Amino acid sequence: MKIAEEVKDAGRIGIGGHIRPDGDCVGACMALYLYLRKVFPEKTVELFLEQPSEVFHCIKDIERIRTDVMKGGSCEEDFDVFIALDTAADRLGAAKPLFDRAGRTINIDHHISNKGCGTVNYIDPHASSTSELVFRVIEEEKLDEEIAKAIYIGIIHDTGVFRYSNTSPETLAIASRLVAFGFDFSEVIEKTFYEKTYVQTLLLGRALLESILIMDGKCMVSGIEKKTLDFYHADAKDLEGIVSQLNQTRDVECTIFMYQTGVLEYKVSLRSKGKVDVSRIAVYFGGGGHMRAAGCTMNGTFYDVVNNLTLHIERQLKKAGVE
Ligand code: AMP
Ligand code: MN
Ligand code: MN
Repeated sequence: MKIAEEVKDAGRIGIGGHIRPDGDCVGACMALYLYLRKVFPEKTVELFLEQPSEVFHCIKDIERIRTDVMKGGSCEEDFDVFIALDTAADRLGAAKPLFDRAGRTINIDHHISNKGCGTVNYIDPHASSTSELVFRVIEEEKLDEEIAKAIYIGIIHDTGVFRYSNTSPETLAIASRLVAFGFDFSEVIEKTFYEKTYVQTLLLGRALLESILIMDGKCMVSGIEKKTLDFYHADAKDLEGIVSQLNQTRDVECTIFMYQTGVLEYKVSLRSKGKVDVSRIAVYFGGGGHMRAAGCTMNGTFYDVVNNLTLHIERQLKKAGVE
């Protein structure tokens, strides 16, 4: 797919990504937004995303995102083309009506659980990130330092800085072409990926200390209650990275991390080292994701959620021959 070709007849182009946007979602959306505005200055291009974490404020024009609409503001606008990135339409949040009303829709994603929701779909579950797919659909000669930086940020976030198994030779080849544009990649990695606020460090500490091992040490479980988040004046953005840290524990095959989003409601993050397909489990509970990283929202108490998940994890571990 070449995105310039796909949108050439459109006067008004909308772009949206998933709720609670992560680094890949923000990077992919911003890169495509900057690119389309650069290539088609005569067109209207608008980006609809929930407020990204402030670590992403190093990306050019990020303040132009229409967070007003995502907070429940009016969305009277209609678009000739609406592009959903890093998700199917169901997780576009308040931008979903804009997608539904658009004359033509495009879906670009790398989630194995996404079957494609657009008039045109570009879904590649083997790609490291949606940002990598954005690199593929734009013309490299139109790239500049700011667009390259946004794509790079997306890739490092979904690959854990080229560490997870979704990193391919192509991912690294693309990264090398991106860093050639000259942005300070070392600072980008430090400031957007590794650096934590003090509150984030404290929450990580609590999640680690309060974690438990179940299934004979094969599964690690931890969670943060809403009252803890409120106490620290923290939100979901402050919990990024905790689940991966937990899952680094030796002999652990998979990790359940959850935070409370309401009365008897939890947002669940699942991670696997490869033997358990957590995407299958997340899809079963109405969510989605990848084989080794997936998520869903579940109802019940903390222990209800754990019990419901462990049934599926145990079954898969047994099948994989892990006792
Ligand atoms: P998280 O644990 O929230 O970091 O998510 C891990 C992966 O699963 C990411 O690629 C998410 O986009 C995806 N994911 C998380 N929650 C959902 C959901 N409810 N539906 C579909 N995909 C999800
Ligand atoms: Mn994402
Ligand atoms: Mn992604």
